[in-house]
Amino acid sequence: MDCIYLDNNATTPLLPAVWESMRPYLTETFGNPASAHAVGRQARRALEDAREAIAAHLGAAAEEVIFTSGATEANNLALFGLCGEPPGHLLASPIEHPSVAEPLRQLSAGGFALDLLPVDGHGLVHAPSLAEHLRPDTRLVAVMLANHETGALQPIRPLTEGLAGRARFHCDATQAIGKIPVHFHDLGVDTLALSAHKFHGPKGIGALLLRRGVKLRPRTWGGHQQHGHRPGTEPVALAVGLACALDCACREMNDRLAHVRRLREHFLAQLQVHAAPIVLNGPDDRRDTGLLGIPHTINVSFPGVRADLLLMNLDLAGVACSTGSACSSGSLLPSPVLQAMGVADAVRNSAMRFSLSPLLTLHDIEEAARRIVDVVRRLRFRLI
Ligand code: PMP
Repeated sequence: MDCIYLDNNATTPLLPAVWESMRPYLTETFGNPASAHAVGRQARRALEDAREAIAAHLGAAAEEVIFTSGATEANNLALFGLCGEPPGHLLASPIEHPSVAEPLRQLSAGGFALDLLPVDGHGLVHAPSLAEHLRPDTRLVAVMLANHETGALQPIRPLTEGLAGRARFHCDATQAIGKIPVHFHDLGVDTLALSAHKFHGPKGIGALLLRRGVKLRPRTWGGHQQHGHRPGTEPVALAVGLACALDCACREMNDRLAHVRRLREHFLAQLQVHAAPIVLNGPDDRRDTGLLGIPHTINVSFPGVRADLLLMNLDLAGVACSTGSACSSGSLLPSPVLQAMGVADAVRNSAMRFSLSPLLTLHDIEEAARRIVDVVRRLRFRLI
């Protein structure tokens, strides 16, 4: 049976066009972009073209783009690099990805005070609460753009306006880039993390956008590349692949978004009718109040069904999905995101994340919903 892949927040398949864009830089044009000779200069040109294209799509300047191995590294680079020496105060949302939450935990163990901003039942940070939590010694605020478990879009611009430059602001935009339009300077953040493999680019590359003039302490030393912010030979082919994937995503943004919305509506409608009762965790997309969530992420609970059993049986039935972030899967710990939202135990313990891609067809999504309905019913009636 063909597997229907609904775990696109974990990773996505590479687009053939992206692979084609990368191939020459792994074979013929293989030079080290730091080399002075013609072979190196060719590689350098491709790298800098990629940097410029990425910057242009994201409302940044080319020199503000630092290539990293992915968003985990970009988040670590920003958090450790912006906050200086302890003591000091850090603020974050309680729904950050582990690649933000864990560095923050380490910084707090190293002498920083850490406070968490509250989120509401839809998983949205309440921007005005920032003022109540800010302290004179606040160094850094970290709030993500789109949540990896619920898709909830956080009010970054109101938060940076409220902060008014009193501390640095880092934004993990990994689940938003390539899915919705994002403009680095308009968000008003100092740093922003992204990762290519979340939008049909290659694994092993991401970027940290660093606002011009903001000081960042490196995490690694030993080379002059990327102004010393992230030394090491740049992976030209991966950077070209990132730029190509972003280019495709931005060119097709409206069509992709409309298609994914349609997939989501069909999927939810089928579950609501045939797998009731279900609970949608995250922003209520029926409210006509603008975009509150990324339509690609669907977090649904099936009360009465244990999420670990559901996951296992859906795998057997040919549906790949997840109970939360891939980085914490296998742990079977309750989702900290749903916990912070105040989701009741019975609902939280039956929550499943289905994450969509524009490559899915309506037929795929209908077939996936059919398989899910079948498994949910059999689990509810103890038939498996
Ligand atoms: N942040 C978020 C919100 C994510 O969803 C992920 C991927 N699970 C990451 C960071 C880490 O990205 P990467 O795999 O590129 O390290």
